[in-house]
Amino acid sequence: MSTTERAVCWHCGTVRDGLAQPCPGCGAVPSGEGLWVAWLLSTRHLAADDLPKVAARIRAGERPRPTEALLERAREALGQSLRVDPGLTQGQRWACLATSLLLTPLPGLVAAAWWWRLRPVSARQALALSAPAAILTTGAAAYLLIG
Ligand SMILES: [Zn+2]
Repeated sequence: MSTTERAVCWHCGTVRDGLAQPCPGCGAVPSGEGLWVAWLLSTRHLAADDLPKVAARIRAGERPRPTEALLERAREALGQSLRVDPGLTQGQRWACLATSLLLTPLPGLVAAAWWWRLRPVSARQALALSAPAAILTTGAAAYLLIG
């Protein structure tokens, strides 16, 4: 990450260094979709000269409302960086595994599909935990039905 990178805080309009750091003005920390907005309001997307104008509009109470196309561009740009997604917590992984084994692997598989674009690390973890359980439970069901 370049040290010259600047970004406007989408929350309070402070121009700060970096994209994902807490805002010195209001303490807001961009995450998830907020990080895409942060990217759109940064020197990675805007000319450095435009930042003060954007900052002034946000300070005047305007909320950034990026279009889907812009969010998509931000997502693409940030997609390579898996740092965006911290992955599942230990507790979430256990919950995913326990649900997969005891009840149904469906929530894990649905979560994997749902997160695939938004949270690539979590999605892969959910899939890794749920897919084997899906095969197991399908096998057990087949055994009970046919067996
Ligand atoms: Zn702020």
